[in-house]
Amino acid sequence: INSWSGKRPRPNGEPAPIIKEVPNYPHVLLATGHYRNGVLLAPATALMIRDKIIENCI
Ligand SMILES: Cc1cc2nc3c(=O)[nH]c(=O)nc-3n(C[C@H](O)[C@H](O)[C@H](O)COP(=O)(O)OP(=O)(O)OC[C@H]3O[C@@H](n4cnc5c(N)ncnc54)[C@H](O)[C@@H]3O)c2cc1C
Repeated sequence: INSWSGKRPRPNGEPAPIIKEVPNYPHVLLATGHYRNGVLLAPATALMIRDKIIENCI
C-alpha cells in the first residue's frame, strides 16, 4: 500500500477529486483529493455529497 499527502492532494492513478463511496463500505463517502482546485470545487463537492447522502437514505 502506498500513501501520499500534500497541500495539493492529488489522487494517484485517477482524476481529481475523489467523490465516491468506499467499496464494501456503503456508509462511507470520500470527498478528497481536490489537488489544485479544492476551494473552487467545494460548493460542487458539497452538492454531490448531499445528493449521495439523500440517495442512500431513500
Ligand atoms: C498555496 C495554495 C494555494 C491554493 N489556492 C487555491 C485556490 O486559489 N483555489 C482553489 O480552488 N484551490 C486552491 N488550493 C488547493 C486547495 O487548497 C486544495 O485543493 C484543497 O485543500 C484540497 O482539499 P481536499 O479536501 O481534497 O484534501 P485535504 O483534506 O485538504 O487534504 C487531504 C488530507 O488527507 C490527509 N491524508 C493524505 N493521505 C492520507 C492517508 N494515507 N491517511 C490519512 N490521511 C491522509 C492529508 O494529511 C490531508 O489532511 C491551493 C493550495 C495551496 C497549497
